Amino acid sequence: MSAERTYIMVKPDGVERGLVGEIIKRFENKGFQLVALQLLSPKQETLEQHYADLSSKPFFGGLMKYMTSGPVVAMVWSGKGVVKSGRVLLGETNPLASLPGTIRGDFCIDVGRNLCHGSDSVENAEKEIALWFPGGVVSHTRVMEKLIYE
Ligand code: ADP
Ligand code: MG
Repeated sequence: MSAERTYIMVKPDGVERGLVGEIIKRFENKGFQLVALQLLSPKQETLEQHYADLSSKPFFGGLMKYMTSGPVVAMVWSGKGVVKSGRVLLGETNPLASLPGTIRGDFCIDVGRNLCHGSDSVENAEKEIALWFPGGVVSHTRVMEKLIYE
């Protein structure tokens, strides 16, 4: 069992294309535990904080437009090594550079329509979780933990 957590977000294209279940399935199949989930229309202000490190990039305006084009599914997943493993499940930022078998490798093409977000470090994960779930997340120890961890 591990308390490591990551913030995973299905972006508006993923929600619109009906890929929420597919993305959840991959994290569930791996053995990670869902500890928070919400469908919401993200506020520009929240997104500006979430993507603060990219604010000077030429694509930032387009990114804001994309991310406010519809609802997103905000999630927190927990488990051993979930931050790094979550990024592996997602694939590369550029979907064309992502291997088949990854979410981005299997379902999308353009970097500006890459379906999902995953935290890139444990530290950023905790910041993102606090930003998107200010009320906190579920605290629950699964009965099945002994089937996942030795
Ligand atoms: P990741 O989502 O893989 O962590 P970044 O943090 O570098 O990638 O970028 C955040 C998001 O900004 C990307 O997922 C993508 O939606 C968008 N983005 C990154 N680079 C570009 C780009 N060159 N052109 C358009 N959008 C981009
Ligand atoms: Mg990133």
